[in-house]
Amino acid sequence: MVRRALLALAVVAATVFQSGVQAAEQPVRLYVLDGGVLESDPGRYRLKPEEVETTQLSIASFLIVHPKGTLMWDTGAISDETWTPGRRAQARHLVLSNNADRYVTLAKSLTGQLKEIGYQPADINYLALSHYHWDHVANANAFAKSTWLVRKVERDAMFPQPTAEPPQPSNFASLMNAKTTLITTDDYDVFGDGTVVIKASTGHTPGHSVLYVKLAKTGGVVLAGDLYHYPEERTLNRLPIADFDQAQTGRSREVLDGFLKQTSSQLWIQHDLVAHRKLKKAPAYYD
Ligand SMILES: [Zn+2]
Repeated sequence: MVRRALLALAVVAATVFQSGVQAAEQPVRLYVLDGGVLESDPGRYRLKPEEVETTQLSIASFLIVHPKGTLMWDTGAISDETWTPGRRAQARHLVLSNNADRYVTLAKSLTGQLKEIGYQPADINYLALSHYHWDHVANANAFAKSTWLVRKVERDAMFPQPTAEPPQPSNFASLMNAKTTLITTDDYDVFGDGTVVIKASTGHTPGHSVLYVKLAKTGGVVLAGDLYHYPEERTLNRLPIADFDQAQTGRSREVLDGFLKQTSSQLWIQHDLVAHRKLKKAPAYYD
């Protein structure tokens, strides 16, 4: 009888211990948010139309949910404030500040996708942008209550006056007064345990970054920002024509290749439409 009671006690103790361990090791989640399809010209990346599988590019943003907080990575190409999602995907026409035309077709708003997984922009602890170009910052203002993690050189390119390439400055204007952490190291470990690391990968813009996420089941994933646009830039070794510093982009690619190899990580090219279409989208997630 005593033995049975002891056994029951041991089972209870083991269950409590196990649930405690589970709570402490709640896996990091990576959500892919779909920002639509961008019409693009592969010539801007020294590629001929016949060299790419598709000339269109994907627009993607990502939410990382860590036991210690949440991080939004990039915020799309179309501001949620400028359209209302309906049953069908909608084509949006933008005229950038350099008068270039851009066309994006999208079905869901960024905040709508966050809502589906139980978050509002105001709930998000940290915002990081791969860089400040228009197709990554459209909803940045919505995250002005988050802590913005940014390299000083990149922030200096944004404020007080954007320095180059077609930005839509009004879409990130609210970040000027957001709570800001200036990143001073090449690697910035967001939650202090090595699972979510912003990595310098400069060249496309002065402070361009990529994001490493170490997932328990999926393994390491690097979100490439605009280090590449088309996957064929990687396979055919082509550099974009309009980067802030092309030679630096080449060096950043080499450094990242070493890291990918060393950590056996996957590279997710955010603009790679073919790969993007195969990814699970929120509310599904990678862990
Ligand atoms: Zn881009």
